[in-house]
Amino acid sequence: LEPAYQFMVRVRMPGGVATPEQWLKMDELAEKYGNQSFKITTRQTIQFHGILKWNMKKHMQELNSVLFDTIAACGDVNRNVMCNANPYQSELHQEIFEWSAKISEHLLPRTNAYYEIWLDKEKVIDTQEEQEPIYGSLYLPRKFKIGIAIPPANDVDVFSQDIGLIAVLENNELVGFNVAIGGGMGMTHGDTATYPQLSRLIGYVSKDKIVDVCEKIMTVQRDYGDRSVRKYARFKYTVDRLGLDHVKSEIESRLGYTFEEAKPFNFEHTGDRYGWIKGDDGKYHFTLFIQNGRVRDFDNYPLKTALREIAEIHKGEFRFTGNQNVVIANVGARAKKAIDAIIEKYQLTDSDKYSALRRNAIACVALPTCGLAMAEAERYLPSLIEKIEGILDENGLHDQDITIRMSGCPNGCSRAAMGEIGFIGKGPGKYNFYLGASHTGTRLNKIYKENIGEEEILSTLRPIIEHYAKERSGNEYFGDFVIRTGYVEAVTDGRNFHNQ
Ligand code: SF4
Repeated sequence: LEPAYQFMVRVRMPGGVATPEQWLKMDELAEKYGNQSFKITTRQTIQFHGILKWNMKKHMQELNSVLFDTIAACGDVNRNVMCNANPYQSELHQEIFEWSAKISEHLLPRTNAYYEIWLDKEKVIDTQEEQEPIYGSLYLPRKFKIGIAIPPANDVDVFSQDIGLIAVLENNELVGFNVAIGGGMGMTHGDTATYPQLSRLIGYVSKDKIVDVCEKIMTVQRDYGDRSVRKYARFKYTVDRLGLDHVKSEIESRLGYTFEEAKPFNFEHTGDRYGWIKGDDGKYHFTLFIQNGRVRDFDNYPLKTALREIAEIHKGEFRFTGNQNVVIANVGARAKKAIDAIIEKYQLTDSDKYSALRRNAIACVALPTCGLAMAEAERYLPSLIEKIEGILDENGLHDQDITIRMSGCPNGCSRAAMGEIGFIGKGPGKYNFYLGASHTGTRLNKIYKENIGEEEILSTLRPIIEHYAKERSGNEYFGDFVIRTGYVEAVTDGRNFHNQ
């Protein structure tokens, strides 16, 4: 008798867009093979948990029936390409989405193994043919991540990516991208040679060049990344080891031209804006807060049922955000009334009542389904926030946007090192506690206290929040305040992340 091994299945979904038909299939599969829920990830896709081994193939085949696959959603390859989910600029979003899909398709592994193993396709054995023109026989040293932001929204945390692309507009038209390289969140506790890092700008290119630029950058990592020690294998360490200028020159020599100087840009926030808005094409878009991205029917809040009812009548699409929320996008005026009725029926606008802290929170899945977790995240952060909300409310800060992020281990799937308040799991109930990232996603945080539990978290945060309420200047963000007042030093280069 074989043990009931359980697996996680992650969908590849460049730009985080799903049709209503695809949504309904995900809803059905969560019931049929999963744990009656699915999770919107921080990379704008979906994870199913609790898939028993003998259901894996059926699950993936049914995903394929609605044109979803899971190729390169894990592994040492380019992962899900993120793109801005900002519904204010609908046409621009569509174009950016198309670029993210093009990059994703271009960097997909060409192997047939996925189709042979999971979709019962015929085996193709051709030893003469080069199967992987970009990856070669060894693939990459480690996973590789790309994200596209449209300023002023930095909802993809563009500086946390191996390649961060910042859209450059002229007269509201996309003309090209600023390119930043060498970001990444993961590290190993106790090894200061590992650290989260921000990507750094290397220049600007016109949009027609961007797919090739991504390919050439990725091949530099393929050829120069550290393949001997896995924890040093990410592109950020390659860039830091060889030097940004050197890596830039190598990319340029492979491209056959040089980058133009980066164009000016400005980010204002990393979060989402909730509720209905009307896009520039006259269509409506509703951004729904989904706590930690978990879609399921909660007691007194049948979220999954509500979204299924919406999917049954929706003619537009669902867009997932890098903050684990969902946008019910491209809704016509008449359909808006019907969707509004469902929103009202299930009180989905309840996000209004949440504090700004909760609406800016991200937690990775952690326990019980992530095998790497050292501490709780998704199941614990909501209750910790409730206690912090008490302190914020006492100090009149209920509506103050503050980003808070919790990861169950230093892999950093919630991008905890980019939170104005960050927690990274150390052990059961214990976290390293970080402060001071920027609200706009341009600065890392820094450790403030190590290995502490809830009581100490709250007693440490209380006086800092009280201080912030009294002495912040104007609209100063919490992350900027703790730097200005000396709680922690600013970290704009990950190599200083651990310095005391
Ligand atoms: Fe798992 Fe760690 Fe990622 Fe959280 S940060 S999902 S615990 S690997």
